Amino acid sequence: MRYLGWLFALWLLVLHGCAPSSQSPVSAESRTVLQPAPRGVLQVVFLDVGQGDSALITFPNGKTMLIDGGEVEQGRVLVRKLQQLGVRRLDWVVASHPHSDHIGGLIEVLRTVPVSEVWDIGSPYESPVYRDFLRAVRQARAPSGGRPKFRVVRSGLTLEAAPNVRVSVLAPREPLLQGTRSDPNNNSIVLRLDAPGGSFLFTGDIEREGRQRLYAARANLRADVLKVSHHGAANGTDRAFLNRVQPRVAVISVGAGNRYGHPHRETLALLRGVRLYRTDLNGDIVMRLGSERKLQIATTRTATAGSTRPVARPAPAFAVIGNHRSKVYHAPDCPSLPKPENQVRFRSSQEAEAAGYRPHTCVEGE
Ligand SMILES: [Zn+2]
Ligand SMILES: [Zn+2]
Repeated sequence: MRYLGWLFALWLLVLHGCAPSSQSPVSAESRTVLQPAPRGVLQVVFLDVGQGDSALITFPNGKTMLIDGGEVEQGRVLVRKLQQLGVRRLDWVVASHPHSDHIGGLIEVLRTVPVSEVWDIGSPYESPVYRDFLRAVRQARAPSGGRPKFRVVRSGLTLEAAPNVRVSVLAPREPLLQGTRSDPNNNSIVLRLDAPGGSFLFTGDIEREGRQRLYAARANLRADVLKVSHHGAANGTDRAFLNRVQPRVAVISVGAGNRYGHPHRETLALLRGVRLYRTDLNGDIVMRLGSERKLQIATTRTATAGSTRPVARPAPAFAVIGNHRSKVYHAPDCPSLPKPENQVRFRSSQEAEAAGYRPHTCVEGE
């Protein structure tokens, strides 16, 4: 019964045909529900976890890799979605970088699902969520009964996850970047996934310095599907990067009405002409590559699937809140906001910094 939906989707594809020639074609989009991947099929699901990132790869041999898990509050939702996807164990859990919108939901996953191996950048990072994450790794169960292996990964690592399906770590590389706008973002684990008929690039939240590192290392960035970096922020994507990747399909993992104004108008403009999916509009985005080597895409919501029209989203009126006594600025939902009488409002962190304010760590968690 559960495959009927996909059979229907397949029928739609056959009807509606597909695009380019030399590369594997991309299917017309259709609606689906989350369900286990059939054997022999590579399935990549970009999970809607609100403002954050999460993607589950199910390899043709049934092995699984979860890249990021959204915020802590998304943990239960994420576990439920993994159950719908038939996940009983995870072979690899990848924490692209220690920001809460990437690792938060992984804590509940580690408590609930047996995990063989956890990948991390292994760079010291002070935050309660990262501390809880590391504790959850130490206390998690591996399918074999022991504890998951905690692995600090660097570029050069490759994994033959299934026959002819390879995962390659493109970043970070030693020495880790320091002194950038956000070192955790720029040192994100960047992965490429190559399978017969298609390739995917997972970029975490890398920004300009992270991209330059990839160019300097002559990393192979060309990919059919791009997980757009940093939730579509302007610093996550530029023309030079897109020229290297040449994606046919792009995914922005982003929460509706988020406080950062992601995705940025500029990013959406740059992606014109690329088939674009967004978790805030399309829900969960399911991609499959089977033996016919055709990339099938279906989503759990059909809102404006496939649209590359930029959705005008006004920037939040007050992006950060400063304390005029301490000259520190905070995200508007920071748990330790200054007293109302000490608050100064700025339209952006740049504006606050130009006025001589420095960030409180609550602003870090993007
Ligand atoms: Zn981040
Ligand atoms: Zn992020």
